[in-house]
Amino acid sequence: MPDQQPNPLWHPFADMGAVDGNRFVVTRGEGSYVWDDAGRRYFDASASLWYSNLGHGRPEITRAVTEQLEKLDAYNLFGGVANEPALKLASRLSELAPVPGSKVFLGSGGGDMVDTAVKIARSYFVHTGRPDKTHVISRTQGYHGTHGFGTAAAGIPANAEGWGPPAADFSQVPYDNAAALEEEILRVGPERVAAFFCEPVIGAGGVLLPPDGYIEEVAAICRKHEVLFVADCVICAWGRLGTWYGIDRWSVQPDLVTTAKGVTSGTIPLGVLLAAPHVAEPFFTGRPGAPILRHGATYAGHPVACAAANATLDIYERDDIIPRGKALEKPLADALSGAVGHPAVAEVRAGLGFLAAVELAPDLLAADPGAPGRLHKFLLEEGVIVRSLGKGMAVSPPLVAEEAELDLLAAAVPRALDRLLKN
Ligand code: PMP
Repeated sequence: MPDQQPNPLWHPFADMGAVDGNRFVVTRGEGSYVWDDAGRRYFDASASLWYSNLGHGRPEITRAVTEQLEKLDAYNLFGGVANEPALKLASRLSELAPVPGSKVFLGSGGGDMVDTAVKIARSYFVHTGRPDKTHVISRTQGYHGTHGFGTAAAGIPANAEGWGPPAADFSQVPYDNAAALEEEILRVGPERVAAFFCEPVIGAGGVLLPPDGYIEEVAAICRKHEVLFVADCVICAWGRLGTWYGIDRWSVQPDLVTTAKGVTSGTIPLGVLLAAPHVAEPFFTGRPGAPILRHGATYAGHPVACAAANATLDIYERDDIIPRGKALEKPLADALSGAVGHPAVAEVRAGLGFLAAVELAPDLLAADPGAPGRLHKFLLEEGVIVRSLGKGMAVSPPLVAEEAELDLLAAAVPRALDRLLKN
């Protein structure tokens, strides 16, 4: 039910004039479902923002968080201070890492880790005698959070523009063309390029799957030119692509991995960065005068967030959740088959991981740029939550979603698309 009271809460990515009085207030969650303040139930095919991988209301996570709050509710990680959940989590995350022996830096969320990765990349080159390597290349349609460097790396133009001068030394290449990356490295000069940011499957930018061979090729190009390959797996990790980190679906060795979201199934904010041993090495020598990474957030390694992550990893392991992201990719594509060839639809992108997008037909979008918003609304009326995108919608249900829930999606999507054409 729409709330009638003006409320000062300012929402991210929202037209506040339209939001106030029309908020969708979520009051309760259980499994793959959430309820609004009118008591209506919805299948959350968006897993909130691609993160409720285990669904809602996991008693194991609640218990772990409660016990941690009772034992040590908060403490920082600065200098040599540690806490048990953070130490345990770092060991586990490193054990699972695509590059053995990776070091683990913790933070507050995905954007925090992206900015951390840029600073670590540049700092690594400063401390290995190549201070001119500062340039960062990202991909069109890429999304790397909304912090300073993530905004400079943004491949969705609307997110990158309008903030005054962007951070220096960033450029972009077409998301689907590995040769373009090498051309850009050569144009800038390999002696000036520090890092390449790559979501294995681009998420917020439209669920854009990498062409065959793309990931291996860009990883090899980075290696050839001593450019750090940064896999931004904020969405793709934690089973979304059927593997722990997402990038480990391919046989490549990322120098840095950024992730967040599903590491706690979204229950408590937590960001994770993995640094391959050679990248971390200058900071770990123990030699007098060795460089110190003068970077990190107050809540890095917060014990309650780490306890939530440890409990989440326990469930991923115990219930063998991670491979479901691959096992469910065909059922999800099948569930959206009713959108394929629909007159309102330009393209359905699915088949790599448990995420997919429906892009609306260009003539429909030209006639009505609000069509994605209407599609979202029609699906809400069907009892299904999807993620609205600039050109359509994305779905990324909880990894614990069942066949009956995918059937619900399969039935609702063609009906909502039909309504788009009628209204
Ligand atoms: N990188 C990617 C690939 C993301 O999808 C996101 C968030 N959707 C971020 C970074 C930013 O994460 P956060 O919103 O937690 O800052």
